[in-house]
Amino acid sequence: MLGRKASCLVRGSINIDEFFHVHEIVRPGETISSHGLERRAGGKGANQAVAVSKAGCKVHLVGAVGDDGRWVVDYLNSVGVDTDGIAVVQEATGRAIIQLANDGENCIILHKGANYAPLPALKTPPLSSFTHLLLQNEIPFDETVDFLSGAHGSGVVTIFNPSPMLSDEQISVFPWEKLTWLVVNAGEADHLHGKLSVISAEPGIEVMQKQPTAPVPSTTDQALHLLHLLQRQLPSTVNIVCTLGPSGVIALLPGVPAPEAAEPLCIPAAKLRGPVKDTTGAGDCFTGYLVAGLMELHESGESVHSGYNALRCLRRAVEAAGLCVQKRGAMESIPLRNELDRL
Ligand code: ADP
Repeated sequence: MLGRKASCLVRGSINIDEFFHVHEIVRPGETISSHGLERRAGGKGANQAVAVSKAGCKVHLVGAVGDDGRWVVDYLNSVGVDTDGIAVVQEATGRAIIQLANDGENCIILHKGANYAPLPALKTPPLSSFTHLLLQNEIPFDETVDFLSGAHGSGVVTIFNPSPMLSDEQISVFPWEKLTWLVVNAGEADHLHGKLSVISAEPGIEVMQKQPTAPVPSTTDQALHLLHLLQRQLPSTVNIVCTLGPSGVIALLPGVPAPEAAEPLCIPAAKLRGPVKDTTGAGDCFTGYLVAGLMELHESGESVHSGYNALRCLRRAVEAAGLCVQKRGAMESIPLRNELDRL
């Protein structure tokens, strides 16, 4: 498949995010007024599809909105996402109701809405027509597993960002061996490692037990140690990428059989030219740009099976995320490919 035009399928969520600006988060029984309201397109599937598209690659989003979400589909179209796979269903569009307090605190209610509606079969093109599949965890778990299995069977590169984190039971039944790239943040890596430890210790019995609470790693060294532990729990073919907010990214690439990829890769966060304005969607921007980088390698016939090429993809994704945090918004703050090239 090397050298073929790359095309990414994202099967994921599409939301309307409603931000209510308030002085303080509302307390039980209280009614307050907001002093500002913003409505933006969101959802991790849509955010990451936009990032792949803004990075200059072909991306097809499969998902669903209600009648109230047609403007979101129009917006996705306007930034180059192929929206033919988005169904308009009876349920309302998935929604995030976000209270944003003056001190920066927030409080979010999520409504799954159309993201959990069954999709008409026609909306799903054959997986074999894509080179990459990108998944998050804001749609029904069975859908995620079906898409992953179909893609794996068709030789498609699979990337999974388990956010929000899978439930304990889902972690225990997830087909990890079908995954090529796992993208997590430090909290997710920690949770996954904790749960997989319990599962492997007493299969089938301890899955639902609470794990001992250990602090989420706060230094790159601690995170690397955690990633090594996690790598031993996953099939030896899964490449693991872990984002660490302002500390950048670390990666273990056992699926890249090159000597230079035998060592962990550590990429510091981008040097910012201005202040951090909003980190919402930085992880989605990073993931979308990483996938676009993998797609470009595929198209150019260059192998991802070189640690140097993988490092280049990760570095570019980190630079993109650095630009993203200096602007407000989730999708809106994802930089275009040429903005990044100008850096
Ligand atoms: P998530 O939102 O999924 O938890 P992170 O917070 O780890 O993701 O951020 C993703 C990436 O965005 C980081 O790996 C980093 O490259 C970039 N990033 C996030 N916060 C900052 C920051 N304060 N300064 C520079 N880069 C940042």
